[in-house]
This record gives sequence, structure tokens and C-alpha cells, in this order.
Amino acid sequence: MTTRFVIIGGGPAGNNAATYAARLGAQVTVIERDVIGGAAHLWDCIPSKTMIATGGAMSFSRRLEVMGLEQSDPEVDVEGLTSRIEGIKHHMQADTTQLLTSQGVRLIRGTARFTGSHTVEVAGADGTEVLEFDAALVATGSRPRIPDWCSPDGDRILTTRDCYPPKVFPESVTVVGSGVTGVEFVHMFSSFGADVTLVVSRQQVLPGKDPEVAAVLEDDFLQRGVKLLKGARATSIERVVDDADGTERVVVSCDDGRVVRSTHAVLAIGSVPNTGDLDLAAAGVEVDGGGYIPIDHNCVTSQLHIYAAGDVSGKLPLSSVASMQGRKVAERLMGLHQRDHRHLDYDKAASAIFTEPEIADVGLAEAEAFASGRKIRVTKVPFSATPKALINADSRGFVKIISDPATGVVLGGSIVGRHAAELISVIALAVTANLKVTDIVESLLVHPALSEALAEAAE
Ligand SMILES: Cc1cc2nc3c(=O)[nH]c(=O)nc-3n(C[C@H](O)[C@H](O)[C@H](O)COP(=O)(O)OP(=O)(O)OC[C@H]3O[C@@H](n4cnc5c(N)ncnc54)[C@H](O)[C@@H]3O)c2cc1C
Repeated sequence: MTTRFVIIGGGPAGNNAATYAARLGAQVTVIERDVIGGAAHLWDCIPSKTMIATGGAMSFSRRLEVMGLEQSDPEVDVEGLTSRIEGIKHHMQADTTQLLTSQGVRLIRGTARFTGSHTVEVAGADGTEVLEFDAALVATGSRPRIPDWCSPDGDRILTTRDCYPPKVFPESVTVVGSGVTGVEFVHMFSSFGADVTLVVSRQQVLPGKDPEVAAVLEDDFLQRGVKLLKGARATSIERVVDDADGTERVVVSCDDGRVVRSTHAVLAIGSVPNTGDLDLAAAGVEVDGGGYIPIDHNCVTSQLHIYAAGDVSGKLPLSSVASMQGRKVAERLMGLHQRDHRHLDYDKAASAIFTEPEIADVGLAEAEAFASGRKIRVTKVPFSATPKALINADSRGFVKIISDPATGVVLGGSIVGRHAAELISVIALAVTANLKVTDIVESLLVHPALSEALAEAAE
């Protein structure tokens, strides 16, 4: 009998599970209330990286002199940028939709909720429909966390979803939150020429990241004139009219009494899962105190026939992880786990921060190894040692590789610098496949290329 597989949410987790399950023979339905591609396409990964790429082109154009060219000073064309972002989003949505329908996946536009252990109800524009399933996947993602001390208005007090692009380019902006999303916003707005202040609740941007990595980014921010308000927690964000000139401002107040005035503020303090309106209790699926759905290593929830993947699962909130979880769910559902199936190891997930310089890491971190008392070998090579960095007129950053001193097996690494998000793939592959440093050293890599720093760091 064909497995009836219902997926709620058409983001990376949902659409990957759908593609693979359909390929493996399941009868798949995806219910999506917004657009196929999910928040990842609509608000998060794709628009943010498109804006960052355009901002990168702007900041590069301010350094043309170093390439032996005449300086230019481009201005932002908000309309042009908006249509570039929309164009890429539509292209990706169309491609994903086409892939799903070509595999025979049924797509339903509507909002789903569970009505029993094997039924969901979908409320759409044409009324409601009840679907029966043998297996279901909850892949409903997350949305920006909004604290009770602030009311974003989409105009001057912005969440991450109001910025791609903003209606008006901020003259000055205060970013609240110095995690991955916060620093990407700092980079983006300062590339576009805004005067940026970052409220950093700890003493380091990117808390939890390798301090050496964070230091390179902080240096870059300071050189660009970004103000870092360290050790401060925002307690309110309000709109005010400036008495002096009658212009509107946003005032961010912090718990230590410091106050920042700017034309705009962006809130980047994490996300909350979209599980509140799913009636998970009707299906007997448990959630934790934060609303996330606990899963086992196969993405199985407290109900054996119901899976959860992506941001709702409370694992790493990354599109790449969501996609792979979706694929693993399909493999498990269709019985592939009994053959050629590897469990997901979240500790081996590569991640990147699209700042300038870019930051990427994978596997074991140096601080983590020291904290656990594990013996490691750490090798570090600056990009300035490679000819390609000089050719690129950008020699910021380094490659760091962490390996086991006894066996030479690569355990992790970090890269700060141009194309770090691409270069980390070599270390990620080594970590996943338990390769040794000698495997990297003996690869015949390209010259001149930034990857030469990888080979040197592996020496
Ligand atoms: C600003 C920003 C930038 C980011 N950049 C990156 C990046 O560069 N790289 C990266 O790997 N990750 C990035 N992320 C994280 C990434 O966007 C998420 O991890 C990813 O979108 C999670 O995928 P998902 O499938 O779980 O959910 P989503 O992409 O959120 O999709 C879930 C879908 O479910 C739908 N849905 C919800 N409830 C219902 C319901 N009841 N009925 C029907 N449909 C429903 C929603 O409409 C949505 O389309 C970024 C996040 C942010 C905030």
C-alpha cells in the first residue's frame, strides 16, 4: 500500500522531505500557507544574502583604487534592488514548485492543524479540507522573536523581515542582538553607508564563537566606524520626534543607562517556533517549554508516525540542516535507514556568517576542546601568506584547522576571510568523512587560490 505522507510547511525541511519521499514512492501532499520555499526564500537566507551581495559590491567599489582603478561612488537604487531581490525569490520559488509538482507532489495552499492522530484539517481560500495520513512531517519553521518591551512597526522599528530591502534606506541604524543575524545586519547596513551601532549584550560579538574569529570581525566593524555598545541589554525601543529639528528618531535604551538615537532600529534577538496554531495535542505530539518539538536522531517526535524537522525541531536553525533533516525523514519513512543511511550529526554541521570578512566553521571548536580537556593540534595560517589574497587586494583573516594529534584526523576548523563560506567545504568534508590532515595536504589544489592556505594549515 502506498504511504500517504502529509507535510505541513514548504520551507527547506518540508520541500526536501517531499522531493525525496515522492522519489522513493510515497504519495506526498505539502500544505503551505504562504509560499513554497518557506521563510528561507521569502525573508531569510535568499533576500538577506542578495542584499549582502549588493552591499558587498558597493563597499568594493569604494576600494577600487587598490585594484588600480578609478574610484567610484555608487548610490543605492531601492527600486532596482527590490526588483533584484523579488526576481531571485520568484525564480527560486518557481524552480522549487516545479520540482515538487514534477515528482507528483500535491501542493495545497492553506493553514493546517491536526484534528486527530492521523488527520489534519486545511483551511484555504476555498474552504476546509480534511486529509488522512499514514505519516506526517511538521516543518512549520519559526518567526522573529519580539520581546514585550518593543513593538516593531515595519517602518522605523524593524524585525529581520522588514529589511529586504527597507522602504527607505536608513541614515543611521541601531542593531539589537550580536548573534549571526545581528552581525550580518551590521555588515549589510554599513556597506550601504549607514551609520551603525550594535548593542552587544556580552563583551564579545558572536558570543559562543572562537574569540579570535570574533576579534577579526570586531576590528573590521571598528574600522568602518561601527559603534559597539558592549555589555548592554536593550530594554526599550521607542519612536520620538527630535525637539531640535522636528525629525523622527528611534531611541534604544539600555539597562546600564546608555541610550542610542538613530533613524531606524533592527531587532535581531532570535526566533520562536511556529507551533502555536497546529493543535499538536490533538495528534499527541509533545512540545517543550519553548514550543519546540523534541525529536530523536531520526527526527521522530513523541508519536512514531509523526516527524518534525527544521527550525521547529529546536536543533540548529539553519536552512542547510533543515534540508538534510527533511531528506533523512524521507529515507527513514521509506525504509532506506535499514540500508545505506547515516544519522545526522549536528556537531558536524558547517555554518557561515556572511559578513566581510566572511566567517565559517565546522566541527570541534578550540575552546570546546580545551574545556573538555581533549588533546588537539591547532594549526593556523593567515591568508596574507597566499599570493591569491594579495592579488585580491584582501589579505584579512586566516584558516585554522583542528586535528587529533595522535591520528591526524581532522576534527574541525574555522575560516575568516574572503569566500570562507565556500572554502569551509573542504574541512567539512574532511570532518564528515574522518579524513586526515595529510589527505588535505596531498590534494593537488589550484594555484594561485585561497585554498592554498587550507593545505598549509593542514601541514
Ligand atoms: C535573517 C535570516 C537569515 C538567514 N540566513 C540563513 C543562511 O544564510 N543560511 C542558512 O542555512 N540559514 C539561514 N537562516 C535560517 C533559515 O532561514 C531557517 O533555518 C530555515 O528557513 C528553516 O527552514 P524550515 O523548513 O524549518 O522553515 P521555514 O523556511 O520557516 O518554512 C516553514 C514554512 O511553514 C509554513 N507554515 C507555518 N505554519 C503553517 C501552517 N500551520 N500551515 C501551513 N503552513 C505553515 C510557513 O509559511 C513557512 O513557509 C536565516 C534566518 C534568518 C532569520
